[in-house]
Amino acid sequence: MTDDASRITRRKVLSVGGVGVAAAIAGAATGVAHAAHLGAALLTDAEQALPASGETLPAKPQAGTIRTLLVGGGSSHDFETYFHAADNATLNAAGGIATAYTSNADEAVAQLAHADVLVFSANHASFGTPAFQNALNAFADAGHGVVVCHAAAWFNWQNVPAYNQRFVGGGARSHGRGEFTVFNRQPAHAVMHGVPAEFKIIDEQYRMEFNPGAPVDVLAETSPEAESGKAYASVWVVNDPKTRIVNIALGHANEAHGNPAYQAMLVNAVRWVAAKASETRSLHAESWRKVSIHHV
Ligand SMILES: [Zn+2]
Repeated sequence: MTDDASRITRRKVLSVGGVGVAAAIAGAATGVAHAAHLGAALLTDAEQALPASGETLPAKPQAGTIRTLLVGGGSSHDFETYFHAADNATLNAAGGIATAYTSNADEAVAQLAHADVLVFSANHASFGTPAFQNALNAFADAGHGVVVCHAAAWFNWQNVPAYNQRFVGGGARSHGRGEFTVFNRQPAHAVMHGVPAEFKIIDEQYRMEFNPGAPVDVLAETSPEAESGKAYASVWVVNDPKTRIVNIALGHANEAHGNPAYQAMLVNAVRWVAAKASETRSLHAESWRKVSIHHV
């Protein structure tokens, strides 16, 4: 309760044109009522959902706009400051990207119906539930792109190995911390456009472990981590037959979210994973046109 109350009293950062302060406050108030209602019972962490934001994406596809749902929330991070406010500002400044953010699993499921791309950073137990995981898989099966950021690349949900298998290719169970170098290993890849050949960053250094045979394509990796002496994947693609998935292990706090290289990779990743769905749409449109012409 205390935790929820402190979260929802934080200033809401608005990201979508047309969504007013009232809507955000209404969403927060709903969260209070919800938490108060449930507070009497002993609830598991998974059942105690995080507050809704009230932010919404345009309900219908818009030409030239990637409707991007940012979903964060959970432990060990200031999701509001970095994965909401900072990343939202980065994506909006890039142009052609409309965003909404939520840390509430039910609101996330509802907004996924209006999203072209999901940027997923959450580690809260409520996102390990079948309700969210089924919606996430259906979203990806439909060809919609997924960008996994930092905390969501961890092994967060013991009972959901399928999440780590499909969306991460593995996961992290520990991390180093401090300054390290990130090497751009595939500068020709669209996700790495405009990213220096190497750059220094102060961040958590996730010790990524890929599952045996995981279909990953590493785009950037770190310098050797001080304690383990190993280099780790920093940015990678998980090849999926139905959609595009990019992981960015960076992103603990301001030193990452304020880093121009991180910002470039985030924007590039959103645009690249969005292309799969639009390719599918234009292929369908093309075949429809051919059929129409044939009949005419
Ligand atoms: Zn972190």
